[in-house]
Amino acid sequence: MMAELTAVLLTGWLHEFRASVAAQREYLTELDSAIGDADHGANLDRGTAAVVAAFEQAPATRLDDLFKRTGMTLVSSVGGASGPLFGTFFLRIGASLGPVASTTGADFGAALSAGLGGVETRGKAALGEKTMLDALAPAIDAWDSAVARHKHVREAAVLAATAAATGRDATAPLVATKGRASYLGERSVGHIDPGAASTTLLFEALATALDGVGK
Ligand code: ADP
Ligand code: MG
Repeated sequence: MMAELTAVLLTGWLHEFRASVAAQREYLTELDSAIGDADHGANLDRGTAAVVAAFEQAPATRLDDLFKRTGMTLVSSVGGASGPLFGTFFLRIGASLGPVASTTGADFGAALSAGLGGVETRGKAALGEKTMLDALAPAIDAWDSAVARHKHVREAAVLAATAAATGRDATAPLVATKGRASYLGERSVGHIDPGAASTTLLFEALATALDGVGK
């Protein structure tokens, strides 16, 4: 049976992400105060609140609309480095999915990869440079591999969240060479990257949103 990821379910994902960012705002701020400028929690709190408000006012029924509006709202409300990066991620997801009301695990994986490509192009970072990519890339790999093994999307999301968390934790020993944290050079060692932490929240939110599906 092909599990369908609907606009309602994926709007639910964005709501879960917003709730988790609001709950973890201080944690994200703390991470960014160690190797950045202490605004990552506030940036994403503002951005995800705006995203949720937009869909409460006018729900999305098509996935391209859902993710393009998410991306544009994040670009215009988050600021900093992470606004354009998260914004591009969602804009590319929307463009990849197109004007459909629901999608499959495989097509959603392809859309996530398109999003990743956008983050890479925009940020010009590579894996291992202590950025959000270090959580994002392994999470998408885990999703794709689970879907290829015919796992339910609910399980794929749990595996993706676990891979993101592993990637997040693996940023601690790395030296930052991109973004603000790179100004610290070797002194960035020993701290988790804030963007890798928020990216992990994003995939944990996906696992929460899909938790009840197909049970
Ligand atoms: P700013 O650095 O402008 O204060 P934020 O604090 O909101 O923006 O976001 C910081 C996060 O953005 C970093 O922890 C990192 O994960 C991510 N980031 C910064 N620069 C890049 C880049 N060039 N490529 C990918 N991610 C990046
Ligand atoms: Mg910052």
